Amino acid sequence: MEHTQVFFGHHKTLMQLLYSAGFIDLSKHEKREALLALCCKLLQVDAISVWSLSSCGTRLSREQCYTMGLGHVYEPYTLNRAQHSNYFSALEAAEIIATHDVESDPRTRSFGLCSLSQQQSVAAMLDAPVYDGNRLCGVLCLENREQRRWSLTDIACTTSFADTISMINTHEAWQDSRKELDYITHHDDFTGLLNQRSLQHRIQQLMSQQPPSPFALLWFDIDRLNAINNGMGGQVGDAVVSTVAARLRRVALPGKDMVARVGGDEFAMLYRLPPGKGSIDDAVTSIMEAVNQPVNIGVQKLAVSTSVGVATFPDDADDLVTLISCSESAMHHAKKCGRRQAQYFNQDLSASDKAHFLMENQLIEAIASDALSLEYQPIMSVDARTVVSCEALVRWQHHSQGFLSPAEFLPLAYEVGLIAELDLWVLERACRDIASAQRRGLSMPPVAVNLSADAIMDPLLADKVAALLDQYRVQGSQLELEVIEDAIKDETGSLRHTLDQLVRMGIKLSIDDFGTGYSSLLRLKNLPFTKLKIDRSFIQDLPTDADDCAITLSILGMARGLGVSVVAEGVENSAQETWLQQQGCHYLQGFKYHKPMSIDDFFHVLTTA
Ligand code: C2E
Ligand code: CA
Ligand code: CA
Repeated sequence: MEHTQVFFGHHKTLMQLLYSAGFIDLSKHEKREALLALCCKLLQVDAISVWSLSSCGTRLSREQCYTMGLGHVYEPYTLNRAQHSNYFSALEAAEIIATHDVESDPRTRSFGLCSLSQQQSVAAMLDAPVYDGNRLCGVLCLENREQRRWSLTDIACTTSFADTISMINTHEAWQDSRKELDYITHHDDFTGLLNQRSLQHRIQQLMSQQPPSPFALLWFDIDRLNAINNGMGGQVGDAVVSTVAARLRRVALPGKDMVARVGGDEFAMLYRLPPGKGSIDDAVTSIMEAVNQPVNIGVQKLAVSTSVGVATFPDDADDLVTLISCSESAMHHAKKCGRRQAQYFNQDLSASDKAHFLMENQLIEAIASDALSLEYQPIMSVDARTVVSCEALVRWQHHSQGFLSPAEFLPLAYEVGLIAELDLWVLERACRDIASAQRRGLSMPPVAVNLSADAIMDPLLADKVAALLDQYRVQGSQLELEVIEDAIKDETGSLRHTLDQLVRMGIKLSIDDFGTGYSSLLRLKNLPFTKLKIDRSFIQDLPTDADDCAITLSILGMARGLGVSVVAEGVENSAQETWLQQQGCHYLQGFKYHKPMSIDDFFHVLTTA
């Protein structure tokens, strides 16, 4: 009972120390100093020390020591497993080593022979293992010059102190790993520069300073990195990126605030504007000089340059998003003006330029977030009575501009290289719609999807299509693909292979907008297309325009010769219809029958037909 009371008393004192103001803020070393001193005082031992075990488990090194009367005295000392194997084994077995007579205990007998105990004449020891997480990492060691029979309280109390030290170790390790995680979340791991997230954070910090102090955001883009990657290999591209990163990091300018990598080949720098005009120009010039130097690749010198856009707070923008988009659009302007130069954002940067960049980001977002949709336009049999197939046409429900037609955003998608991604989105949505018709027991006619040149030239296209068919359990025969003549004008082995693979899956291929390009008859004969779609411009003025009649007739004749069928697009009236029927056109598509419509309306047409 008395033992218990004493232990509770000691434990309470330990807790008071742990919860005392400021303890948490001490370093690990200071915390252990305080613990050693307290333990020494509470248990009235001659000395107390903390030892750390080497990672291989063969050495114990004294790290801190508190001696009664002398206080903290640090004397390094190392114990080797070879000399003290019993002691090491006992520790590993997680034993509390409580010995009243060091020399008679087999675990500690070896200490009798070494200088440690002779110098300090240790007669009794009470040792408790210390952990880091669940790894044994050292020992807390209480020493007495006189022999001492350790009480239960001594042992329980020592264990509490050892456990506390273990907890501090573990917490420290946790904090270190948090720091590491912090590093990962704030840095770009390839260049070691800060990342976009850090940049945004810093911009917001600078913007909220009172009074506001002006700064510039410089947005860098390495010129021709794609060409370098393609022409010289990714490793050379990587070397260029890391060299540019290092150069930006090394730039020493009084107003330089931070450098971040914000994209594959894009970097940003914050530059605090010193009072006075003109200084930003000088800064930009010297940064450009530092960066636009050749990069040594082996014995070769590779010319490397960047285009830079500069926007300032608060003159150009006073919020994060606008500031970034201003500097980006200035950078794109620099590219347009011939690269290797800096451009400053100004309101003259045409409004369309700005809208363009905004749209680009919005389109990326739209593709990712399914803000696009499809409409279906039925394609009719020649007697105009039956829906034989349909064409999927993409739409964009823009959050502020409303329903956008392809003419309003496809040119942008082409220009910025998003068109193939968009086409795949359409393919997937079409497969999903076919699958949903199947589930409803509707017999959906084949769906024709438009493919851009970029999509058809993708060597992996057939694999991607096969994966979609598989995923949605759709037959190849339920799909048709339309490509415009110009998309197939260059014969490449890979194109031929892609087309053959698609046909093998049962997919029919059509040539879209026929008559507007330059397909040679021979070429068409060699490619596995089974349908031609006559462009709307030739249909429009039928049957009054003699030239259009002649062209359409020759297309129909040629198709007959090739054994392919013909769709007339843009049929709007009966006169066109009658003429096309008389000339032996196979299919009709146009507002005369149906405008493009939502999938639900299309299902309605199918069920009421
Ligand atoms: P297109 O492939 O020639 O598609 C037919 C276009 O003609 C559609 O315009 C359709 O609404 C319109 N049209 C159909 N019948 C008539 C008619 O009787 N009168 C008139 N005035 N127009 C008619 P839309 O939907 O605006 O598409 C325009 C073009 O955008 C398409 O021309 C196609 O080249 C492209 N496009 C549409 N969706 C996609 C897609 O998913 N991927 C790709 N790469 N291109 C697409
Ligand atoms: Ca089409
Ligand atoms: Ca067309």
